[in-house]
Amino acid sequence: MIAPPKTADTLIHPGWIVPVLPHGVVLENHSIALSGDRITALLPRDQARKIEASQELELPGQVLLPGLVNCHGHAAMSLLRGYADDLPLMPWLEEHIWPAEGTHVSEDFVGDGAELAIAEMIRSGTTTFSDMYFFPDICAATAQRLGMRCQITFPIFDFPTAWGRDADEYISKGLAVRDAFKHSPLVSVVFGPHATYTVSEENLSKVATLAAELDTSVHIHLHETAGEVVLAEEQNGERPLDMLQRLGLLGPRTQCVHMTGLRDADISLLADTGAHVVHCPQSNMKLASGTCPVVKLQDKGVNVALGTDSAASNNDLNMFGEMQAAAMLAKLHASDATAIPAAAALAMATINGARAMGIEEKIGSLEVGKQADLIAVDLRGPETQPVYNPLSQLVYVCNGSQVSHSWIAGELVMANRELTRIDLADLATRVASWEQRISATAGSTQ
Ligand SMILES: [Zn+2]
Repeated sequence: MIAPPKTADTLIHPGWIVPVLPHGVVLENHSIALSGDRITALLPRDQARKIEASQELELPGQVLLPGLVNCHGHAAMSLLRGYADDLPLMPWLEEHIWPAEGTHVSEDFVGDGAELAIAEMIRSGTTTFSDMYFFPDICAATAQRLGMRCQITFPIFDFPTAWGRDADEYISKGLAVRDAFKHSPLVSVVFGPHATYTVSEENLSKVATLAAELDTSVHIHLHETAGEVVLAEEQNGERPLDMLQRLGLLGPRTQCVHMTGLRDADISLLADTGAHVVHCPQSNMKLASGTCPVVKLQDKGVNVALGTDSAASNNDLNMFGEMQAAAMLAKLHASDATAIPAAAALAMATINGARAMGIEEKIGSLEVGKQADLIAVDLRGPETQPVYNPLSQLVYVCNGSQVSHSWIAGELVMANRELTRIDLADLATRVASWEQRISATAGSTQ
């Protein structure tokens, strides 16, 4: 037992603390101390009152919890929110999203789109996000400038896009971004081969070799739809998951995004290799892509994290919505109302995301020594009263608008719902200008 510190930068006295680890615990009459970028104490209120703090914050009726971890998205696509809806994945991509991206994606598009996404994510409780998009250097720089923690996965395709010509160029540019941010406390950069239907076996092999050499994560869309799997079996005689295994790409560094329609053998393979699954329930439902068997995966010991996917297929980046969807969809899918209880859904949105990214020693729970990434959620409104169990309120009632404060690496990035680093009026002007430009070309791209 380490003695509590005598001083702290910030001392917070909330109504409740949900530390996530230990699992399912709700603490009352406890306080938390922050100094620099870390949590330095979590202790009973009467003991905390003895700590001398530069700043003390009383948050009665509010619950303090780790910042949410959005494990999969394409931040800049927020500029395409609502651009094309109510379509299956491939026509949505091929006839609408890819043509619009072909016309508009640029460094400015990514900078403004990422800022819009980060504003929305902080306001709905996310403090760490994973991103896969063109110009990953711009998204990384935007996140760093705005004080947001992220995992940037640089995209790899076989074909040319606004950011590269071929897989070799995507990889060399991506590794340069990784070098540029290797000392950043907030940004990590990892491999993001888009999918097995957009990256050849030869190029996936290169990723496997490099990722092993550099001990770096690989983030890939995998088994997003039944059609993807059928097509792969017809063309290669092999399911995408089996191909990744054969190429040495399945392991504890691998983040498999979507994973719908899995067979028992697929689940065993994921469990045996230690690969992580990133479940995106709202995107899967909206595109009618399929269902990820979360209960079976967790029963076998597979780590399942949560992601929103892009605002173009969700249509928001709100992890409260994602937790609620994950819990409810799991119950419906398993025909079991006890499946994924509130504490499990919250773990998926916090510590499991941190595990998937390999940063569970740093974030994902409120523990002494971890980074001070935390949020306060106000349960005093009529929508969240009465409060029998704050965990239940967080998952089944809150919609993100109750998040009042957010700290990332000890810095207050939102206070009483006011963002400290983002000028929303200026951002709105830039977004309106993109809306005009994108609508003006919609006829030619839609
Ligand atoms: Zn995606």
